[in-house]
Formats: sequence, C-alpha cells, structure tokens
Amino acid sequence: MKNDWNKSQYGFETRAIHAGQEPDPTTGAIMTPVYLTSTFVQESPGRHKGWEYARSQNPTRSAYEACLANLESGKHGFGFASGCAAETTALHLLKAGDHVIASDDMYGGTFRLMDKVIKHNGIEFSYVDLTDVENFRKAIKPNTKMVWIETPTNPTMKLVDIRKAAAIAKEKGILSIVDNTFMSPYFQRPLELGADIVLHSTTKYVGGHSDVVGGALIVNDDDLAARIYFLQKSMGAICAPFDAYLSMRSLKTLALRMRQHDINGRKVAEYLEKHPKVARVAYPGLPSHPQHALAKEQAHGFGGMMTIYLKGGIDEARRLLENVRIFALAESLGGVESLIEHPAIMTHASIPPEARKALGIDDTMVRLSVGVENVEDLIRDLENALSKV
Ligand SMILES: *Cc1c(COP(=O)(O)O)cnc(C)c1O
Repeated sequence: MKNDWNKSQYGFETRAIHAGQEPDPTTGAIMTPVYLTSTFVQESPGRHKGWEYARSQNPTRSAYEACLANLESGKHGFGFASGCAAETTALHLLKAGDHVIASDDMYGGTFRLMDKVIKHNGIEFSYVDLTDVENFRKAIKPNTKMVWIETPTNPTMKLVDIRKAAAIAKEKGILSIVDNTFMSPYFQRPLELGADIVLHSTTKYVGGHSDVVGGALIVNDDDLAARIYFLQKSMGAICAPFDAYLSMRSLKTLALRMRQHDINGRKVAEYLEKHPKVARVAYPGLPSHPQHALAKEQAHGFGGMMTIYLKGGIDEARRLLENVRIFALAESLGGVESLIEHPAIMTHASIPPEARKALGIDDTMVRLSVGVENVEDLIRDLENALSKV
C-alpha cells in the first residue's frame, strides 16, 4: 500500500499531494510531522524501527524525498542542504583522473564549483556548447565519466536535446545528469527521456516561495542510488527536517504554480517581444526561439524564465532595473513573486568576462523570473519602467 501512488493510476497533481505521505499512525495527523530529532531509540542493539541517526535518515526528509522522486518518475530521491550541496555530492561519484563534459552555459555557481573547487580534486572539465549534441560526442575522451546538462541554459535560455544526449551517454557508458531547476518535474522529466540523474536547486520552483534553500538528486537505478545514499550520509550535506517539510508542502501546489508561471511567462514574453526598446527576447515558448520545436517536444510547458536584450547599453539596463516596482531586483528565481536581475553584474559575475562575452552575456541582458501575480499588473510595471529607459 505504502507509496503506491504510481503514475499509471494517478495524475501529477494527485501524486504531488499524496506520494510518500501517510497520515501519522500515532495521531492521525494528516500532515507529516517535522521530526526534530537527531537520534532514534533502539529496543536492543541494532533492533530499531528503521531509523537510527538523522544524518542517515529522517522521516520528514524521507517522505519529501519519496514525493519528489515520484514526481520526477524516479525510484529514489535525495534531499540536500542546497542545490550546490547536491552538485558537490553528485560530483563525488567521480574520482581523480575522471573527465566531465559540461554545458558551456550554466548557472554561475555550478561553473564556480567545478572550476574553482572540484577541479582541484584532480577531475577534469570540458565546457562545450551542448545545444549541438555532436559537440558532446566530439569532446568524449577515454576517461569521460559524466555529462552535465542544464536545459534551458542559464541565462541564455538555449536548450539541450536530453533524449539525444542521454542516448550518446548510454552508448559510451557515461553518466548523464540533468539540472532540471528551470522546468521543474511538472514541465520536464529527464529520467523519462533517458537521463541517469536529475538535479534540482529546490530553492527555486520546487520550494517556490523564496523561503528555503535546498537541493535534490533523483535516480532510477538501484546501484546508482546506493552510491548516492552512501555519499549523502558520508558527506552529510543533508536537507534539514524543517526544510524538507517546507519543500514537501510546496510540492503540493507545484502544478498550480507552474501553470500560472507558464501563462504569465508567455504573456510577458509576447509583450516584451513587441516593445520598441527591446532588441530580443529569449523564451523557449516564443516561436522566434530557435529551438521552439525542441522545447515543445521535450517539455510540457515553458515556465516563467526569460532573458531579454535591451537596445542600448548598461545605462538602459540600469534604468529598467531601477524603475520596476512589482519585479524585485534580486538574484534567484522560481518564487511566486516576480524577480528581475542583471546576469553580467549579479548571478554570472563568477564567469570570466571573455567567457561571458563569448556566451552573449552582455550589459544589455536582463533576466526575468515571472511570478504568479496578476499578469496585467506585471505588464504595466514593465511598461512603466521601460518608459523611463
Ligand atoms: C540556483 C541554482 C543552482 C544552485 O542551487 P542553490 O540552491 O543556490 O545552491 C544550480 N542550478 C541552477 C540552474 C540554479 O538556478
């Protein structure tokens, strides 16, 4: 009976509310309690109820991990203290001498972790443009052990064909990992497309309310799951019980939120694309996006993330950022409230200037995380700020 919320029988919305969760057996409480305990009493040495020490397992965390795994069409989920903690743990599946092929356009903190930290463990990284999967094939070396995919990429909103990349990885015995933060399991499920590991910064859409920092890994393969579980408990970068509770609570409304992010995102993108002060809008949901067809094929929606290029330069961008009122000037994304930011100065400052230039992260680029406020209000807010540009 337990956790029998399978996909063939129940829709996403139902599983998001029930998977991994049972009414509390001692009280009947419908919500999973927050188990604030570091240890669990044993009846006799080694005889216990399946819980020993809370770094290894915590019932609140386990319920959340099971729910998230279910939504990603995976068998095993692992909650971490942050997206970066999930990344650090995943990168410890490798050992010195191994080679990783990663997207050349990724979240700045992921690049920093690889290039300034993990590299010193003797792991080699190649950053290639994975929007053409042939570049992935060409970059493979005898010691290539992992391909790191982020799609849509951050901040240029380019797409990687998950199915094709995962097929090449499988053929060559390379682990494929997909950072699914921008799409959430509601819109994109990389395991269904053949990927080995899904990664989330649950700080973003999964958490959805800008009140918790967290990360997750989800897999199907039992052996891979055992290796990740060993790393999770050994390295200890676990998701705390209260954070697990908040994130699980957020999953219950993920479908509702994502649908509205998508509706609002499309309307804002269409509005901005027609605006005379905007040079270009990069949003996979617009027919003008060069990979719009792929977006429709591998995802079930487009979400609320977009990047715009203004006409002019840094002063124009600054005036837009300073004159919005509903859109808050802040890093991060995926919350119910709309955010706006300047990648070159803010989220992607850790990428060297030459590399930023090559990727097209220039001074006129502004990234929007469109929230779930009234969309007419959002458009009026942008209209007003653009009038001051
Ligand atoms: C924010 C983010 C991360 C890092 O996650 P944290 O929770 O901030 O540690 C990784 N990947 C993407 C795409 C992100 O947006």
